[in-house]
Amino acid sequence: MIEKRSESAESLCVCPECKNTIDLSRYPNIAPGMVIECNHCGMTLLVKGIEQGNIKTEVVDEGK
Ligand SMILES: [Zn+2]
Repeated sequence: MIEKRSESAESLCVCPECKNTIDLSRYPNIAPGMVIECNHCGMTLLVKGIEQGNIKTEVVDEGK
């Protein structure tokens, strides 16, 4: 059974590094090209795209 709740407004983003769900309340206007930070491991992530409420991210290699 598919869990269906707040399908329009809420987006979900899972950190590719620590696999935790990132708290997106700090990013109310999230959009592709934005850089966000995982509130669990501190990883910097680039938003690649948003598909049906799932935010695709890529780890940004900083300081190299
Ligand atoms: Zn993380």
